[in-house]
Amino acid sequence: MKRRLRGSSQDPPYALSRNASATAAVVVVALSCLWSTTRAFHMPSTSRPFSRSLHRSVARIRPQGSSLMAKRDAPGGGDVLVIGGGLAGLSTALELSQRGAKVVVVSRDEAESASMAAGGMLAPQAERLEAGPYLDLCLQSRDMYSEWAADLEQWSGGISTGFAAAGGFLAPAFTGDQVDGWVPPPGAGPAYRLDGPQIRGMEPALSPHVTGGWWYPEDMQVDARRLFRALREACLRAGVSVLEGSEWAVEALVFHPALPAVQAVKMSDGRRLSFAQVVVANGAWMNRLLPVPVGPVKGQMLSLRPKKGEPNPLTRVIFAENCYLIPKADGRLIVGATVEAGQWDRGVTAKGIHDLTQRALQICPALGNLELEETWAGLRPTTPDTLPVLGSTPWENLFVAGGYWRNGVLLAPRTGQLVADCVEGKVGADDAALLSHFAWSRFLPSRVGEARQGSKKSAATVAADATVGDKRSAESMSLSKPPRGATSPAADTSAGGPTPSSPTAPADTVTHHDDPYVDYAQLKA
Ligand SMILES: Cc1cc2nc3c(=O)[nH]c(=O)nc-3n(C[C@H](O)[C@H](O)[C@H](O)COP(=O)(O)OP(=O)(O)OC[C@H]3O[C@@H](n4cnc5c(N)ncnc54)[C@H](O)[C@@H]3O)c2cc1C
Repeated sequence: MKRRLRGSSQDPPYALSRNASATAAVVVVALSCLWSTTRAFHMPSTSRPFSRSLHRSVARIRPQGSSLMAKRDAPGGGDVLVIGGGLAGLSTALELSQRGAKVVVVSRDEAESASMAAGGMLAPQAERLEAGPYLDLCLQSRDMYSEWAADLEQWSGGISTGFAAAGGFLAPAFTGDQVDGWVPPPGAGPAYRLDGPQIRGMEPALSPHVTGGWWYPEDMQVDARRLFRALREACLRAGVSVLEGSEWAVEALVFHPALPAVQAVKMSDGRRLSFAQVVVANGAWMNRLLPVPVGPVKGQMLSLRPKKGEPNPLTRVIFAENCYLIPKADGRLIVGATVEAGQWDRGVTAKGIHDLTQRALQICPALGNLELEETWAGLRPTTPDTLPVLGSTPWENLFVAGGYWRNGVLLAPRTGQLVADCVEGKVGADDAALLSHFAWSRFLPSRVGEARQGSKKSAATVAADATVGDKRSAESMSLSKPPRGATSPAADTSAGGPTPSSPTAPADTVTHHDDPYVDYAQLKA
């Protein structure tokens, strides 16, 4: 279990007891004026705009003199808490930190994160995404990758992400399969239809039964584990506090009784932390903190390695209908992945590995000579429509970055930017239009209005009610029939899990307590 704390041990607490006396409040206000002045004075110019807009957005949700204000303005305070240290949380944290925010990430266990299980493909075209906002979002993120990967390598002090753009992806077609009948949408980038001899000319080890296929020269890849390491290190070097381990698991969000705001987060050991803004980016477990239908779709993977001295039979990523083969720069070849909806365990099964190897050998028989190196599984965070949930929520200081399904590596740079824009309160018109397709309100159509319009119900009540409605809406949708613009479960092989109709994570009750908040200084002891 890792525990990492950054920052000076002399940092004063920023989470104050609700019972603070009037005298203390006066001192806090005086100190906060002094702190704001000195902070603004010493802050690099690039970070000042964030600070100003953060003050504005917090001011919108609190009456003058409320406890929220006291906590935010206390010296040494954190601006943003990010729950979840996978690629979604870390990319948002890095972006916010680089804009001048003080960011803390709490995360339970990196080993359980989907980010560490991913294949690392950046492949909106090979994924056969249809034209629409989701494809647009994915293409924007792919366009950012080359520069982002180079920046991360620099910001992390030299950790390579394994970014590779050369060669593109090949999607081999077998007679009558989905690839065979696919017509790529215009505007997604170049795509070339190949016949059998042409595709085997590019990858001679492909099966003689491959009838042709598509070449997507602009799809690319990273090594997901290396990317994760580089991003985490870049966060640390940018001043983000990354707190990892079971003691940093968040148990519940504590909502303000009267305002549409999160007051604190309750940790699994009962401690309370309060921050001005909170971003929930906890992957497949989002439904345990919030009434939003994100659940797990398990994917099993394996890696092969050529025997010593022998070459890898493949040079490009092969993205077939129910299986993908990813040659990596370090010599491995990753084979993925099963699609098992509603499965919380990350165990690897005989059937899962059997299905994957069988399919891999159909596509490329020469893989039979490679040695089996590693097997693993991860949980894709998935919504009923397989689109992400991004940005604002009915609670004005609460934001979400989740439901990245099978494209969370691809989406990391662009969504980190967009969610940071939301937190900062600076979303341009085009981005607002794009984000509207990924709003969590699509799952809670009638509830959001109540919260936003300041109905007599408290935010906590709305959330608790919404949990029920949320489950209903999740059940009425089917993951197996994604809407136009959402990805179909291409290139994965079903390993016989339950029908992917409804993520079934039990939603914890949204809590509200009156006891004092934890002093951050005590946490550091
Ligand atoms: C087998 C497989 C292959 C994939 N291949 C690709 C690919 O090739 N390309 C691609 O783009 N995407 C791929 N994906 C999808 C991608 O991995 C995910 O979409 C992405 O990693 C999700 O990132 P995340 O940060 O939302 O969640 P995670 O990476 O799951 O991170 C969530 C973190 O939150 C923590 N957490 C959970 N609850 C709490 C709590 N209450 N308190 C504190 N911390 C908490 C968890 O411990 C975890 O560390 C693949 C996924 C799988 C499983």
